[in-house]
Amino acid sequence: MRVKDDSTEGSTAPPEAAAGAPAESAPVDVAGSDAASADATAARRAVAGRIFEIQRFCIDDGPGIRTTVFMKGCPLRCIWCHNPEGADANPVLSFQPEKCIGCGYCVRVCPNDAHEMTEEGHVLVRSRCVACGACAVECYAGALELVGRDATVAEVVDEVERDLEFYRNSGGGMTLSGGEPLLQIDFAEALLLEARERGMASCIETAGFAPQERYERIRSLVELFLFDLKETDDERHRQYTGQSNRLIIENLRYLTGAGASVRLRLPIIPGLNDRDDHFQAVAEVAHSLPALEGVQVMPYHALGTAKLERLGLSGDGLYEGESPSPETVAGWVGRLRELGLDMINSDDGESSSQ
Ligand code: SF4
Ligand code: SF4
Repeated sequence: MRVKDDSTEGSTAPPEAAAGAPAESAPVDVAGSDAASADATAARRAVAGRIFEIQRFCIDDGPGIRTTVFMKGCPLRCIWCHNPEGADANPVLSFQPEKCIGCGYCVRVCPNDAHEMTEEGHVLVRSRCVACGACAVECYAGALELVGRDATVAEVVDEVERDLEFYRNSGGGMTLSGGEPLLQIDFAEALLLEARERGMASCIETAGFAPQERYERIRSLVELFLFDLKETDDERHRQYTGQSNRLIIENLRYLTGAGASVRLRLPIIPGLNDRDDHFQAVAEVAHSLPALEGVQVMPYHALGTAKLERLGLSGDGLYEGESPSPETVAGWVGRLRELGLDMINSDDGESSSQ
């Protein structure tokens, strides 16, 4: 049905709206535009991506209470990674031998004979595994788990929306994390749009290593970027992550220059980047930016080591150390504060604002 749009006649619209209207308004196809909008919504909700976890009631991933969606795939390979299950864009099989009860179901269902029961116990031959997930379905003891699954925007945001009341009461919302969320830019953008449509604010945790156009695409949909700066010395950055830090610092400058809210997060790893020259260089970068929503130390924690073993990824060159004490963390925070940075962490090294 076509209707005449006479909204400018006797209009109560603000003058700037009326002034911007054409002298003779064109007919508006209301039914057509409603149908187009419904199609666009349906298309957005059907966009699929790959995730490895949806974690509710998070308090360290942005303001308030949040639900964090962990997305698969990361372009960096940090030697201290605490989410190694997110690095590979494909699903990976996690195996916890200590939970295995030796039932042998996995041996029977694996199409590639990747499981063997030997006198020494259960052996998983990873080189034969294609991550089909059949064994994980049969493992009632929970020793096997396929990490990574495909999900649509509707499925993910339906789950996130379950805690809408908590977000409203605490100023929270959804956080996209990973892996690197910008690696799946179409999925990330559709998730952010859908969350906004449903009245939920979103944060993104990013390592900063993605083409600038991707940040441009999602900038206006993100309440706060939680932006990692891992190492200011480019040579060391390559050594620790496999990539240069140049693009990361360029993206940081782009986002802050474009008026986005950005919190700078500093993963600090004892013996690697807890150096004063790094702290001074961080301060130099931070002071050169137009604005930051604070700086936050993210102390190394040893959680990733156990995950690496479960995924069969332990190996040479990976960082294995102890988590730093609260006193050590407080020392880092104090030094960064001395350098004039607006630290989010409280003096005992714990986050105070989240
Ligand atoms: S199915 Fe699970 S519990 Fe049974 S043998 Fe395999 S890994 Fe062990
Ligand atoms: S995930 Fe599939 S291929 Fe891999 S061990 Fe299990 S059943 Fe075999």
